Amino acid sequence: MTDSQTTVGPLGTNPTAPAPAGVRTAADVVTPEVVAQLTRGVVGSGRTANHTPFTGEKLADLPESTPEDVATAFERARAAQPTWAATPVRQRAAVLLRFHDLVLQRQAEILDLIQLETGKARLHAHEEVQAVAVVARHYGRKAPSYLRPKRHTGAVPVLTKVSELRQPRGVVGHISPWNYPLELSVGDALPAFVTGNAVVMKPDTETALTALWARDLLIEAGLPAEVFQVVLGDGPVVGPAVVKHADYVSFTGSTRTGREVAQAAAARLIGVTLELGGKNAMLVLHDADIEKAAAGAARACFSSAGQLCISIERLYVHESVADAFVERFAARTKALRLGSALAYGADMGSLVGEAQLETVKRHVEEAVAKGAKLVAGGVHRPDIGPLFYEPTILEGVEAPMAVCTEETFGPVVSLYRFTEEEEAIGLANATPYGLNSSVWTRDAKRGHQVAARLRTGTVNINEGYASAYGSVQSPMGGMKDSGLGRRHGSEGILKYTEGQTIAQQRLMPIGPAFGMDDEKYAAFMSRSLRVMKSLHLR
Ligand code: NAD
Repeated sequence: MTDSQTTVGPLGTNPTAPAPAGVRTAADVVTPEVVAQLTRGVVGSGRTANHTPFTGEKLADLPESTPEDVATAFERARAAQPTWAATPVRQRAAVLLRFHDLVLQRQAEILDLIQLETGKARLHAHEEVQAVAVVARHYGRKAPSYLRPKRHTGAVPVLTKVSELRQPRGVVGHISPWNYPLELSVGDALPAFVTGNAVVMKPDTETALTALWARDLLIEAGLPAEVFQVVLGDGPVVGPAVVKHADYVSFTGSTRTGREVAQAAAARLIGVTLELGGKNAMLVLHDADIEKAAAGAARACFSSAGQLCISIERLYVHESVADAFVERFAARTKALRLGSALAYGADMGSLVGEAQLETVKRHVEEAVAKGAKLVAGGVHRPDIGPLFYEPTILEGVEAPMAVCTEETFGPVVSLYRFTEEEEAIGLANATPYGLNSSVWTRDAKRGHQVAARLRTGTVNINEGYASAYGSVQSPMGGMKDSGLGRRHGSEGILKYTEGQTIAQQRLMPIGPAFGMDDEKYAAFMSRSLRVMKSLHLR
């Protein structure tokens, strides 16, 4: 790298990461043979296409599904589901464990596809590989115990024998966005498969090849092809058709679309999980390790160019450390290398689409016009690619500015200084969203106390987002407008099941018996209930 490429100047000077010699291009990766192989998995009679954000060029011609195609996909999935559900759970779990190994072995292929379809840096694409591997391992190992029939004490102990079964829901409709196309498509579908469901998936068209590649890999790992159907096309057309036929819906995307999906699911009385937007806050307390907090903030604000639902868009820093923090955070931000090569080296990639770029520009320009100060970035970089935008730090942001309250979903963070911890907690909670937050302190006890008062589904202490997200035995999801339901842990798998209670009555019925009249029976039952409580029955 030359000196000029590493120079850190005042604003708008992020260095570029040069492409190493001999790296692959889009044409090397997305060949006609690859497209033909992957798109065999789509039920679609129309035509559409997707594009790479790196250059704006077309990547692949793709099938497009009509609402009738969606109905066909559900018919096929429904026909195949009972056989899959009858497969022993250990066999289903073994598919996930093989998938874990395959995705790690073949990661170079999927890293190329994720980069090309999303425009993200390779390191951020690798976060998706890690995330699906962890989820596959967890449910591959733990599904048999999550799903094992449970014995419970019955209505009348000894006389009533009870077991709780977990039945698959049937066919799950799974709708996912473009920003984490491997993890949010197949990663979130793995627990649905292992519980014996079939899935009809609608990934975003712009990132369809990633989801289709993962489908092929799951089939290679042993999943019957028919239980995994894929449909593609316009969200407002294909999405509602998926909800119309599904037995359960798993949706990840914006809060606006999530509300529509919830209404359609409510009308059909089917369950739904909604993983929605955020306006996530990081609190840097007075005793934080400033160096580590600045490095953590650079990761948490600019991973995937900020197009990460759990990324940090609001930074609250204690005034006693604010100057030192800003200096370090700004230096790190300005040093982030931007690039589009299919190789490691760049620290940040591109935005995914024109609409995203417009939102980022609008939020930054409006804030600056109304008096906010640019500490770093604020510059569109078409010299690297049409949708590149520098990682941006703003100070002096106030409530009427859109960037203060709306999700930007781009590489833009607003920094606020506070004096009292109480004030910072209040400000962090003063949003309709409640997805993720982060607290930095050297005092672990204080960190936990503050964390418990933050109204977000996940809180990371001395990390931005990855500690909580990667801890897949625990639930992950949003409070308030950030969602409904959870992925990961027991909630993330049991939601794909219906609880079924089977109670077998033995020796005597629950009702008057042995010649008792109603009054005697009522007195007998009242005595029995008192005894049961004194025996500490639950
Ligand atoms: P989006 O809501 O526009 O689209 C998400 C998916 O829904 C896409 O597949 C889209 O085609 C489909 N869709 C669009 N209209 C639909 C409709 N009427 N009915 C059914 N489906 C429809 O969201 P997006 O812009 O693709 O994704 C970015 C948003 O997703 C951000 O708000 C981000 O915070 C959120 N997100 C949340 C999580 C999480 O886990 N909480 C994860 C990633 C992204």
